[in-house]
Amino acid sequence: MKAYDFVVVGAGLFGATFAYSAKQRGLRCLVIDRRAHSGGNVFCKREHGINIHYYGAHIFHTNDKGIWDFVNRFASFNRYTNAPVANYKGELYNLPFNMNTFYQLWGTKTPAEAQQKINDQVSALHIAHPRNLEEQALALVGTDIYEKLIKGYTEKQWGRKARDLPAFIIKRLPVRFTFDNNYFNDLYQGIPIGGYNTIIDGLLDGIELRLNTDYLQDRDYFHSLGEKIVYTGSIDAYFNYRFGPLEYRSLRFEHEHLDLPNYQGNAVVNYTEADIPFTRIIEHKHFEFGTQGTTVITREYPAEWKPGMEQYYPVNNEENNQRFLHYQRLAASENDVVFGGRLAEYKYYDMHQVIGSALAKTKRMFGEMTMA
Ligand code: FAD
Ligand code: UDP
Repeated sequence: MKAYDFVVVGAGLFGATFAYSAKQRGLRCLVIDRRAHSGGNVFCKREHGINIHYYGAHIFHTNDKGIWDFVNRFASFNRYTNAPVANYKGELYNLPFNMNTFYQLWGTKTPAEAQQKINDQVSALHIAHPRNLEEQALALVGTDIYEKLIKGYTEKQWGRKARDLPAFIIKRLPVRFTFDNNYFNDLYQGIPIGGYNTIIDGLLDGIELRLNTDYLQDRDYFHSLGEKIVYTGSIDAYFNYRFGPLEYRSLRFEHEHLDLPNYQGNAVVNYTEADIPFTRIIEHKHFEFGTQGTTVITREYPAEWKPGMEQYYPVNNEENNQRFLHYQRLAASENDVVFGGRLAEYKYYDMHQVIGSALAKTKRMFGEMTMA
């Protein structure tokens, strides 16, 4: 008998949820991560008494009561509601697009006036079947919003022209004819008090964890330790890039400590013009209504991904999706390995989705149990 039932590669949300769920069923897990900390991309670094979202701003939101109850076992959540502000050439607009935004743009005061303004702009464009992000955005909100709040931000974020991007990316941004700045439509939302590490520590409580440990450096050793491997790293790396690398969009984070209590008055300010090289500035203390005398901000610069860089957003175009399918076929024939999470599935997952996916996987593998 081997020392563990599972060696879980990756201490992010997928790996930690999987290990927790397996342990609840009496199974023995070893979790490893090549980074120096657990948590994957939800890791928070505490500096100056402030939890810094080290790999980008993370706001927990879900419509699923089961997932909400599950995460609330490990941390209490505050009442944070994401309400980003857009800065376009020094003008400020509320996001997502709602009655406040329309008033700031055009002075319209009623839903009917705002709808009329948008209809006038949209109908002048004659876009019957939007074929790309540019046409989709124009057909949804018209020229003014597209030019000021979408085009520059989108083209920076993706490093491609909006007309060369798929339409679905923009469909997830709400357009509302109410005075409601809540970025998400979900029923449950908040930031875990104490930061995301509290949840990860709770999930991994009592489970052996080895950091600075790369599975790919010594696969045979880890297979000798565990009956099965749960792999949450990149699928192309697992198969030695046999079909070529899968592409990602990367990010560079510039963290800065400022000796003042309040830099921008909001957790998230998007910079929507093309000429400013970063997409947004995050002021972390506002996620937790911090009252410290000091602050930490992070500028987020989109970057073209190259092998070796951190992988953030999968570029799910036709070519990459086809390549992924080849890897997925190989993965299906690896009997002793379970693949899961955003890197192994080459999929953009929100946190609630990745937790849901890990819980569903353990439920399929081990059957129903009381907790999830
Ligand atoms: P990861 O967190 O990437 O964990 C994988 C782990 O595996 C990593 O720790 C890695 O070091 C480790 N690993 C990889 N290869 C190896 C190896 N060979 N050996 C050992 N270890 C290895 N979601 C939301 O719900 N709300 C948000 O506001 C939000 N904002 C986001 C902002 C940004 C900029 C990004 C990029 C994502 C955001 N997300 C958000 C999504 C969220 O980050 C993911 O859902 C979640 O982190 C995915 O967890 P995971 O375990 O699949 O992957
Ligand atoms: N977007 C935009 N202007 C903004 C914010 C978002 O045009 O101020 C567009 C952009 O194309 C982005 C998409 O909307 O890729 C989805 O935005 P979201 O905030 O969901 O992006 P993410 O959280 O994935 O970075």
